[in-house]
Amino acid sequence: MTSPIIIAVDGHSSTGKSTFAKAIARELGYIYIDTGAMYRAVALLAVRQGLISKNNTIDEDGLRKSLYGEHPAEVSFRISGAGGASETWLDGENVEKQIRTIEISRVVSHVAALPFVRSYVDRRLREIGSAKGVVMDGRDIGTAVFPDAGLKIFMTARPEVRARRRYDEMRAKGQETSYEDVLSNIRERDYIDEHREIAPLAKADDAVLLDNSDMTVEDQIVWFKELLKRRHLCGF
Ligand code: C5P
Repeated sequence: MTSPIIIAVDGHSSTGKSTFAKAIARELGYIYIDTGAMYRAVALLAVRQGLISKNNTIDEDGLRKSLYGEHPAEVSFRISGAGGASETWLDGENVEKQIRTIEISRVVSHVAALPFVRSYVDRRLREIGSAKGVVMDGRDIGTAVFPDAGLKIFMTARPEVRARRRYDEMRAKGQETSYEDVLSNIRERDYIDEHREIAPLAKADDAVLLDNSDMTVEDQIVWFKELLKRRHLCGF
């Protein structure tokens, strides 16, 4: 690629956005940023501070104070040496593992629907993206955070396929869950993400659709290389 750009990879939950985005970032020598991780870290903060009740009601004033108060929480990404992958830190602690549990998946979309949480995260993402040469995956990168991104991809897949992939991944990590629980969590997150007032999940008009229901990761990389050629964005 001649001059570095921002590549926005948005889409539904568990469509393999991070696998795809990581792979293309590696190929292009770009930084990869998992923006959902930042929402997950804020959700973890809210859970740890006891700000979310059983029925997912959030103590908004409490959370606002934690993010914007006198001693605001610090959510950040650090690029690890090996492979240049970014890791999520919350107040000086590496929380990569703690943010990926089903408990956090259950509450994160509720937390991410709050406008003051979105502006907290957006500010950090815009700082990171200002240097370009970055692949960001999320829900609203091409529509709200970087509407002028040089390339936008919108990923989706059938819910059952997504649930099966996520279930296998969680089992492989030794996390106890059922396929039905994972499927209903995916459907619920789709609904909340698509129906929230601010920056709802939607394909940007100028995004290219990638439905990977019946594609391997390799198929998707081939697809991406062809896309770059078609757009005259050489890279590989
Ligand atoms: O990508 P991941 O599933 O880890 O994201 C967790 C949650 O964070 C999503 O379900 C969504 O509610 C929220 N999110 C968002 N906007 C983004 C990225 C994630 O609202 N850009």
